[in-house]
Amino acid sequence: MNVRENIARIHERIRQAAHRSRRDPTEIRLMAVSKGCSLKSIEEAYEAGQRLYGENRVQEAAAKLPFFQNSGCEWHLIGHLQSNKVRRAIELFHSIDSLDSEKILRKVSAVASELQRRLPIFLEVNIGEEPQKTGVLPAQLKSLVAAADSLASSIELMGLMVIPPFFDQPEQSRPYFRATRLLLDEINRHRATPLTQLSMGMTHDFEVAIEEGTTIIRLGTAIFGPRA
Ligand SMILES: *Cc1c(COP(=O)(O)O)cnc(C)c1O
Repeated sequence: MNVRENIARIHERIRQAAHRSRRDPTEIRLMAVSKGCSLKSIEEAYEAGQRLYGENRVQEAAAKLPFFQNSGCEWHLIGHLQSNKVRRAIELFHSIDSLDSEKILRKVSAVASELQRRLPIFLEVNIGEEPQKTGVLPAQLKSLVAAADSLASSIELMGLMVIPPFFDQPEQSRPYFRATRLLLDEINRHRATPLTQLSMGMTHDFEVAIEEGTTIIRLGTAIFGPRA
């Protein structure tokens, strides 16, 4: 596995998918999901120009991020956040992309405010309404957006993140990506400043996500190879 070559190939695939859907490829950010990866692999990605990273666990990130201080990297938390890890998460990450309840939103807001931060956040939507998955249900999204808006002095709502149900055929993810896009449009119909970010698409389905309007694709395997 050559991380640099993988990244170059992915950028070419991004360019082609953007072209097919008449989108500007620079509107699509590549997030490298480095969970389970060695520092060496992350450094290889860094050498190839990769600056946006996602980690799932606060503890794992706490061990890695100090090696990338002042490197110009941007780290997002994309895994579920427990309330006892909120402070550490805010200290470590530029953005928390996986918020899904009013309770945790309020906690994040309170700690961010204490640390004099205005923290970018995403709301994670359980777009497939799968009982075993985290994320707010689509029917409850509107009230969570309202809660986030009421805390706007300490958190900055950027958009939505989803992990659709897994299918063998990436094409089968399309309706879920489209539904997420429509949810964002629906939210924006009632807003003065629209939410611009959609974090959707992973290794096996990112091209479909690009065709459906994603702005951040989160790739682990495609960049770093299969996880141990
Ligand atoms: C692991 C993970 C990814 C990356 O998955 P790949 O299939 O390896 O690209 C993306 N998003 C989240 C939330 C993840 O946990």
